[in-house]
Amino acid sequence: MFDPIQRQLLGLDENFLAHSPELNSRLHPATLAAVLDLRARAAKFDFDLRIASSFRSFERQLLIWNNKALGLRPVLDSAGASLDVHRLSDREKVFAILRWSALPGASRHHWGTDLDVYGAAHIDPDYQIQLTVAETENDGPFAQFHRWLDVELRQGACQFYRPYAEDRGGIAPEPWHLSYAPLAKNYAQVFTQELLREQLEQAPLELKDTVLENLDEIFQCYIRVD
Ligand SMILES: [Zn+2]
Repeated sequence: MFDPIQRQLLGLDENFLAHSPELNSRLHPATLAAVLDLRARAAKFDFDLRIASSFRSFERQLLIWNNKALGLRPVLDSAGASLDVHRLSDREKVFAILRWSALPGASRHHWGTDLDVYGAAHIDPDYQIQLTVAETENDGPFAQFHRWLDVELRQGACQFYRPYAEDRGGIAPEPWHLSYAPLAKNYAQVFTQELLREQLEQAPLELKDTVLENLDEIFQCYIRVD
């Protein structure tokens, strides 16, 4: 049995979350307060900070993972092109999925401390958000917002940081992914491979054997606990 903190780490608990109708999102109450603060500062610069993704449960991440493993949802290569999962070995499938999606139980979105943001001031109302790096650079629709956010984060004006800012060869860069440091650092410290293994062993996870065989490597390269 898992204790309450372990259940939060693994995305098994939703009771600790606060809901914001304004942002249509659920987050840890302290994270939510900090986001609303960041949103208010963004508004002064004419940016409408919105959340594309906030808390995600283990069940939800499991569904995403399994759909990708079964070829029911696109799996992309590093350049963003679609892969035919049926032509990949199980090991190749696992690592292709991990480039863009977290293993269930190992998503920072489970903690209520992490969220994907965009700034909506300069886009058409019917624009379909993709969350790609191209959207955040040069003349991309969210580039101005990200330039403002760069300065905000660099100055330490808020307590968010970008855990996936650079490409370290594992997870693709995600400049839109913010983590609320005061809480996330605590969760990261107590998250262990043993805890993750215990949860995955009992979960209806596609590619489970391959995941568990490679869990050392996965934990080192694809699970960001800093
Ligand atoms: Zn994210």
